[in-house]
Parts: sequence; C-alpha cells; structure tokens
Amino acid sequence: FSEHLSPVPLDAVYSLKEGFSAVNSESKLILGSGVYRDEELQPWVLPSVKKADEIVARSQGSDRFEYLPIRGYSPFYTAARDLLFGSLGLKENRTVSVHTVAGTGANSLGARFLKETISPSAVWVPDPTWVNHHNIWSLAGVEVKTLSRMRLNPERGDVIVLHACAHNPTGVDPTKEQWRMIASLCESKGLFPFFDCAYLGFASGDPDAEAWAIRYFASRDTLEFAIVQSFSKNMGLYGERVGALHFLAATADVALTIKGHLSRLQRGNISQPTTRGAMIATTILKSPDLYREWLLDLKKVSTRIRNMRKLMYDELIRLKTPGSWEHLRTQIGMFSYTGLTADQVATIRTDSHIYLLESGRINVAGLNIKNAAYMARAMDAAVRK
Ligand code: PMP
Repeated sequence: FSEHLSPVPLDAVYSLKEGFSAVNSESKLILGSGVYRDEELQPWVLPSVKKADEIVARSQGSDRFEYLPIRGYSPFYTAARDLLFGSLGLKENRTVSVHTVAGTGANSLGARFLKETISPSAVWVPDPTWVNHHNIWSLAGVEVKTLSRMRLNPERGDVIVLHACAHNPTGVDPTKEQWRMIASLCESKGLFPFFDCAYLGFASGDPDAEAWAIRYFASRDTLEFAIVQSFSKNMGLYGERVGALHFLAATADVALTIKGHLSRLQRGNISQPTTRGAMIATTILKSPDLYREWLLDLKKVSTRIRNMRKLMYDELIRLKTPGSWEHLRTQIGMFSYTGLTADQVATIRTDSHIYLLESGRINVAGLNIKNAAYMARAMDAAVRK
C-alpha cells in the first residue's frame, strides 16, 4: 500500500479529544464536540426518551431483530416529516421520505442522489459550515464551493446547503426577511435548496417555530427541495443513529420516481437502517403526553444553554475584556462562534487547559455554573496577551 496511501489528518473534533485526554489537570475542560452535557457535564438521557425507551422495550416481541424495509420504519419517517411540515396541509403524495443512518447518512444519501440526477456543477455551502459537509459532498463527487464566493456565479441546477435552524458552528440564523430573499434567489438562479436540520427545537424548545424556514419554502409552492433531519441532538439519540431524508417534489409522479431511486441507493449503501432508536423517536412523536414532555426537555436544554451564555458574557463585561461580546449572548443553539483567533485558542489551551476548536467555536453545553466564569477569565487573559 505504501506507494498508494498518504496519511490523512485526524478530524479536528477527534484530535482535540485526544489532546484533552492526554493532559493532566484538575481544571481541564473540553468544549469541542457537539454533544449536550447537563449541569454536571454528564451525558443526559432526556426523561421523555427514557420513558419511550421503556415503552419500546416492553412492546417489542420476537420480531425485534428483524430487518426493516429498505426505506426504514414507516411510522418513523412519516412522523418525522410531519414534525417538519406541521399542519401546512402538504399534498402528501408530493413528499418522499427515507429513514437514514442519522443526519450524516441523510446528507450522504441526498448528495449521492443529487449528483446522479441533477448533476450539479457545484454545491454551495455556508462559510463556515459543519465540517463534514465538505467531506460528504466531495465523496459524492460534487465540487464544494463556499457561499461567501457566491457572487462568483452559481450555475442553474447547483445545490445550496442551508442550515434550517441553529447554524453549526456560528449559532447565527438568517432572519425571516433574509430567508425570503434566499428563497427568491433559489428561484431566480435555479438553485436546489438542501436543508440540513440537525438541531430542531434546540434553540428555543419550540420545534414549530424553528421549522419556519422549511415551512416557508414549502408554502411558496414553487421550489423542489430536500431536507436532512437528525434526532441525534434534539432527542440525545446520538449513538442510535436516527435520521431521515425528505424530498418535496413538484408532482406526485416525480416523488414516486425519487422514491425508487432513493430505495435503490439505500439498498446499495446500507440495505436498511437500524430499528430501535427510530422506534423511540416515533413513540415520542406519536404520543401527545410524551411529545409534551419532550418539549419540556428541549426547553430545559435551551434554557441551560442560554444561562451559560449569559454567565460567560457577564464575566467578560465585569472584567471589561477588550472587544465586543454581545454575540455570545445573542447566538442560538449549542454552539458559539467566539471570534477568538487561532493564537488565542492556543493560549487558552496552554495556559488554562480549555480545549476548543481552532476556529474559536465552543460547545456552550460544555460549560456549567462552576466553570463558565473560568472560561471567560481564560478568554480575557488570552485577549489581553
Ligand atoms: N448536520 C449538522 C449541521 C450537524 O451539526 C450534525 C451533527 N454534528 C449533523 C448534520 C449530523 O449528525 P448525526 O449524523 O449525528 O445525526
């Protein structure tokens, strides 16, 4: 192999974890990966998910390990679709949904399908975006270009990746007015919108409000588009790999054809997705009581994250740290793009043993009442250095 292989750099989030594990310090802190942590900085099983898990365990019979159909668990992907579109009154037969290996699998399946069909000259991704978007679209054989270069000339039929809510990594979403402009741009330039919805409900605890952009695009009735949906974060089902890919097509006939192609690709990729996590998600989405409880869980998550943002912000203000820090408070979702430079990030790591990505992105859920001010003090010291 030696003449065919060159070394591959480790993914930034994973290499951060390695560095963190190697360090020996009481005060060390990691704010790198995108997983929610509770006030004790421990993984949190949402109470609604725990109950649903028990219900699923009780209800499964000897068929529990049977294969699902190729498109997955149909009660799951229809409930997942309804969560996105709400009471919009979509003509059902214009949508097609597939249960996937979480959001990553949905991104991959969608990318591969679009490469085969509309064969875009490029996919336009936000700058910055979730790092795996670059990887996934490159693997599908589509050139990746960043939206900051958009003024360079997208071609008709190019794909545009849009974070439906709680943009990763910046925590900054377009306003409603800006979404309207983006939709008009997609129409006038002939771009194919590809929503990535990995944090629905995470920003405010209100999935309906956070699905606004998706529902708005659908309500215009002029655009065909795709939505990637993940339950990794908003149900904390990370390792269960629960997600879906949806297409809204112009006609029922087109939707039917898409369905055939997605099934063919899914068969070749994974044959069929896994069962258990999807059953847990479905139990929550279909039970009015558990659904209400899930909303409360989401509220708890979003409130804790907002409180940590405020603690960090208040300490920076108290310290009169040079610079403007309002964005730490106003950004939404789990991530904050602090604006720290790579040098400042390195200083914070060396001097305070706090591990964050070189881009300055932090996972706010990695903070708690005890360490949020410590983080702010580390930032203060790095900024003044
Ligand atoms: N899209 C975005 C924007 C994400 O941030 C993530 C998770 N970090 C995903 C998709 C995929 O997550 P998963 O495969 O765990 O559902």
